[in-house]
Amino acid sequence: MKRKDFLKKGTLAALGSATLVQACQSDNKQNDAPNIISNKKYKWKMVTTWPPNFPVVGEIANYLAQWVEEMSGGRMKIEVYGGGELVPALESFDAVSIGAAEMGCGASYYWVGKTAASQFFTCIPFGMNAQQIAAWLISGGGMELWKEVYAPFDLIPFAGGNTGVQMGGWFNKRIDTVNDLKGLKMRIPGMGGKVLTKAGGAAVLVAGGEIYTSLERGVIDATEWIGPYHDYKMGFYKIAKYYYTPGWHETGSQLEFFANKTLFEKLPKDLQVIIETATMRAQAWVLAEFDAKNGVYLKKIQDEKQVEILTFPKQVLDALRQYTQQTIDEVINQSPESKKVYEHFKKFKKSIDPWSSLTEKVYYNELI
Ligand code: CA
Repeated sequence: MKRKDFLKKGTLAALGSATLVQACQSDNKQNDAPNIISNKKYKWKMVTTWPPNFPVVGEIANYLAQWVEEMSGGRMKIEVYGGGELVPALESFDAVSIGAAEMGCGASYYWVGKTAASQFFTCIPFGMNAQQIAAWLISGGGMELWKEVYAPFDLIPFAGGNTGVQMGGWFNKRIDTVNDLKGLKMRIPGMGGKVLTKAGGAAVLVAGGEIYTSLERGVIDATEWIGPYHDYKMGFYKIAKYYYTPGWHETGSQLEFFANKTLFEKLPKDLQVIIETATMRAQAWVLAEFDAKNGVYLKKIQDEKQVEILTFPKQVLDALRQYTQQTIDEVINQSPESKKVYEHFKKFKKSIDPWSSLTEKVYYNELI
């Protein structure tokens, strides 16, 4: 065939299949000999939603970069940027989506404005705990769903740790009945805030740096944050009367890494596996670090003797659970994708709860 004719007969299609064949061949070579493919070096940027080096959740971004560099023998370097250093914290999703940065680190519920279904992969009020969420994501099909939800944004998610059950928050009013939530001004973001609003409270948006003074001056009556380790550093025990448990609104917040899908898939296979493996190490480290530090800092808070640690009454939790179901129904009625994810989540929870209740729950009741 003359070149002219060749061009006439759909050059693009011909070129396309030729490229595909070459790509497959080179992939096979990579899979057969992942350690000798090349010494090509990769330099990636990771943007995060956390202040630089923020305890645990910011630290893990640094560790991940370190582990990937070590495992790849220096072939892959990831430069970590705290929120605001390269892009504003809450623009991390977009930045990685368009490939301005190759990776991100955060929590999927920050992206509800992009896709409502994302929040189910961090946590929902009265949801699963850290152990159950890990079971869902790693062994129960949750991760595949999460990948589906992120794919339209050219993103691929990875597990990035879990906070464990958080604390219910710092209050300057006692919560003895559900009526005590009426008029309560609380800093509580996300779905938890919507639930509080249904209970007659007011979910107030306060930036991290302004929470302490807002609580001190009575601009808000209460705030949630994370758990004893982070809360102690914020100094809330100095200005709040009560520290309530449990964090019904964040029963095990799953954290995430995410990469630009196209760029990730262009990496040699061994580097892809290295990144994925490092994120699983992160998944283990974050929960371990939260638990270990929270134990130490709970004692510090108790030793200060300035705050009373209380449990929400069952009647209050029961009411909040009802408002939670109403809130979830509103979300899934507006978003078929959220409905799909929630149904999967609910089915898995239903299958694992009896097991967790028979073992972890019974044993936890024997702890103290
Ligand atoms: Ca929280």
